[in-house]
Amino acid sequence: MRKIDIIVPCFNEGQVLNLFFDETVKVISEIKEYDFEILFIDDGSSDNTIDILKQFASENDFVRYISFSRNFGKESAMYAGLKNSKGNYAVLLDADLQHPPALIPEMIKAMEEGFDCCCANRAGREKDSKILNFFKRRFYRLINKISEVNMPDGAGDFRMMNRKMINAVIAMSEVQRFSKGIFSWVGFKTRWISFENVERAAGETKWSFWKLFKYALDGITAFSTAPLKIASVLGIFISISAFIYLIFIIVKTLAFGIDAPGYASIIAILLFIGGIITFSCGILGEYIAKIYMEVKNRPVYIIRDSNIEDERDDYR
Ligand code: UDP
Ligand code: MG
Repeated sequence: MRKIDIIVPCFNEGQVLNLFFDETVKVISEIKEYDFEILFIDDGSSDNTIDILKQFASENDFVRYISFSRNFGKESAMYAGLKNSKGNYAVLLDADLQHPPALIPEMIKAMEEGFDCCCANRAGREKDSKILNFFKRRFYRLINKISEVNMPDGAGDFRMMNRKMINAVIAMSEVQRFSKGIFSWVGFKTRWISFENVERAAGETKWSFWKLFKYALDGITAFSTAPLKIASVLGIFISISAFIYLIFIIVKTLAFGIDAPGYASIIAILLFIGGIITFSCGILGEYIAKIYMEVKNRPVYIIRDSNIEDERDDYR
């Protein structure tokens, strides 16, 4: 029988796991054509998440878990899940029921129709804060413009993929992972479906505004070199302006002699150019930092405990 892996990253989700499990089991018990395995990734939780997972595993033979040695982040958890999945298809699901398991049958249908991937898009974000939504929209506009990847607004990680696509995603073994970009970069035929945005069933979101901002910056530097080009274009633009101004000053001095006052303009220009140089160095720094982290080639995750016999670690 064909097999589907349900991959669930969990970070301090003790409050919601039982709810999630009941709901998911209800959905998959009605699908008779496939074998299911639920693969929980405990991303270094400090609550009782791991105890609940162990209990699920002892009571159900279709439950697997991997527990990290510390919190590595959702990106790492998803990567570990995909790397350890053996099914024909795998679906990524949040533990907080914000990704309704009820959509799984529809996703399977898309896969049977010949799609390589079925991605569920969040429609409407009314429940999130207005400022956050504003920045999220700007981010998607920007990244779609300046990178070769195409990410629809609201496209999250809630998606089912076939083996070909899973293997492609795993092959992209970069340490600093930005899945939205990776999924888009690998290509494949994707069916888009949408679902109503729901609030998390229990517990709290792990994303602060600052974390999201850093994540957005990571996404841009991971999939676009446009900022580097902006720095060079600014440099060229300022050099040309400075040159024109230089000629202007020389001509003016020759024609009218030297007039000493000019403090304000000198300071203004100095500060402006100083700012641009610092800004450009900052951009360079972002990319150098990326190269530095990537060159170290550290594992994306470290497994502390698991009930998979031949679990795949990420010692590169
Ligand atoms: N998550 C994780 N590691 C982290 C942060 C989050 O595995 O460091 C998991 C979390 O348990 C949940 C999913 O990623 O299953 C989405 O997290 P959350 O609901 O906090 O994000 P939001 O839905 O608010 O974007
Ligand atoms: Mg959530």
